[in-house]
Amino acid sequence: MAWEELLVIRDEACQYADDERMAPPAACPHDGEPLTTGPDGRLFCRFDGWRPQ
Ligand SMILES: [Zn+2]
Repeated sequence: MAWEELLVIRDEACQYADDERMAPPAACPHDGEPLTTGPDGRLFCRFDGWRPQ
């Protein structure tokens, strides 16, 4: 049914918005330094050591 398809589309749009919100930042909020991937595979700021979350 068409209305069910619309609900699915809306849910997918919400999921996409959640993914956007959860995306890690590209730069440190303290100094703007682009984040670097550390040896453990997680992002960190090489300037002051800040890590997202
Ligand atoms: Zn930093």
